[in-house]
Amino acid sequence: MKYDYGNLIDGVWQDTGQIFDTHNPARPAETVGRYAMADKAMVDRAVAAASRAAREWRRVTVAQRCDILGRYIDAIEAARGVLAAAITAEQGKTLKESLGEVAKACGESRYMMQHAMAETGSRHAASLRPGVRNLVVRRPRGVIVAITPWNFPVMTPMRKIAPALAFGNAIIVKASEFTPAAACLLGAIAADILPNGLVQILHGGPEIGNALVSHPGVQGVTFTGSVGTGKRIVAATASNLAEVSLELGGKNAAVIHDTDDLDACLDQVAQAAMMCSGQRCTAVSRVLVRRDLHAQVAAGLARRMAAMRLGDGSDPSTELGPMTHRAQLEHVRLSVDQARRDGAVVVTGGEPVRVPGCVDGYFYAPTLLDRVAPDSAAAREEIFGPVVSLISYETLDDALHLLNDVAYGLTAALFSNDARAIARFVDECETGMLHVNHGTVPDSHMPFGGIKASGVGAYSVGPGAAAFYTTEHSVYLGA
Ligand code: NAD
Repeated sequence: MKYDYGNLIDGVWQDTGQIFDTHNPARPAETVGRYAMADKAMVDRAVAAASRAAREWRRVTVAQRCDILGRYIDAIEAARGVLAAAITAEQGKTLKESLGEVAKACGESRYMMQHAMAETGSRHAASLRPGVRNLVVRRPRGVIVAITPWNFPVMTPMRKIAPALAFGNAIIVKASEFTPAAACLLGAIAADILPNGLVQILHGGPEIGNALVSHPGVQGVTFTGSVGTGKRIVAATASNLAEVSLELGGKNAAVIHDTDDLDACLDQVAQAAMMCSGQRCTAVSRVLVRRDLHAQVAAGLARRMAAMRLGDGSDPSTELGPMTHRAQLEHVRLSVDQARRDGAVVVTGGEPVRVPGCVDGYFYAPTLLDRVAPDSAAAREEIFGPVVSLISYETLDDALHLLNDVAYGLTAALFSNDARAIARFVDECETGMLHVNHGTVPDSHMPFGGIKASGVGAYSVGPGAAAFYTTEHSVYLGA
């Protein structure tokens, strides 16, 4: 067993009688970590410690806060090998992707730090009264709870920790019960550098998550995960009226309308679909293709997907890791079986795969589904695996209709050199993030979030995040 952690509360790792284990998804018989589940008393203690830490931290100037935060980010970067190994061991992605995840987390964190530095916290506004000066000021919100999923065990917690600290808050992270090792390592690094109580790590499932988000001492809840859990969190925060920022699922489309270089386009689409074995909220999971390009696109995507080498993420020759847990593998398997029953044709893949040396690993073959009916589940619901649904269309109007005719609105890509098609995509595509002529992998310094069922409240990363991590106040200064 590589990792053994309790709950980090006020600078001290605390155990309970209740433990849970994590497993390597490439070889599930291998136990990776053992963790102590938090209890309700720990939630109370963590919130009390966070309240005290937040009161002290908000008095530290933003320049000093960012100085300390900068040292924390530097230490995370220095530990990238250890963090990447922890991601791969529990989540399953390749070591190369895990290293990329840590680098991106540091890039986003530094950007948010610079952003907090640039934000003066107040601005002058016009007054209706002579001799009175008006100010609009922003203050730290207070105690933030972060609930994170299993697919980006470093990037998602850091996407919340860095802005929370830069803007003067304390944060309690409840990491996914499938991939807590990386969050514990982030907590251990924090314990060496930051004041106690500023970053705390609690373990548990829905019950502890619910106790945290509904706690009366919590002022903000930032959540990344599924739509169902997001709705339960909104309902739970009715009791404490905490501000919420939700980043939820997606059913992201790449629209291939016309292209000078189909190979380059398909390279990008295949990469955007298959990174992290499709377990990215921003993964391309639908390809909408103009009918005259359909045969070439189907053949080109199938060739790229079938050539991918599945294996243990820690093996340098691996291109695609396993599903992160057994229920996720089962969900992917059932989704593809349902698609077949709904009339889709499996061009490549379509079944779990045995990988030599990875006994009982949760591997699923990269799968291209063709002739997917637009009203079927494979066209509308998130599969969150290495599965692409191909749908053809005749006109740009048809493409835009298919693109927007889903509940989700996270990200999308258009491949086209037609100025009119690009303009209509930019104006009409109902997603938070829009890419023209490249895949759906976002930059580290651009607003990240979704609309419709893909998100609620402020985006993370970028200027909008201040609306979540701070509160706004109108000040009237009379003579
Ligand atoms: P999930 O919703 O099952 O769990 C996410 C987290 O919520 C976990 O830590 C879990 O323990 C916790 N949780 C569960 N029930 C809770 C409750 N009632 N109250 C409080 N916390 C609770 O999601 P998952 O399976 O871990 O992750 C996959 C999902 O996350 C996919 O839908 C994916 O699209 C989405 N996701 C979205 C983004 C984004 O930025 N939009 C990024 C990554 C993942």
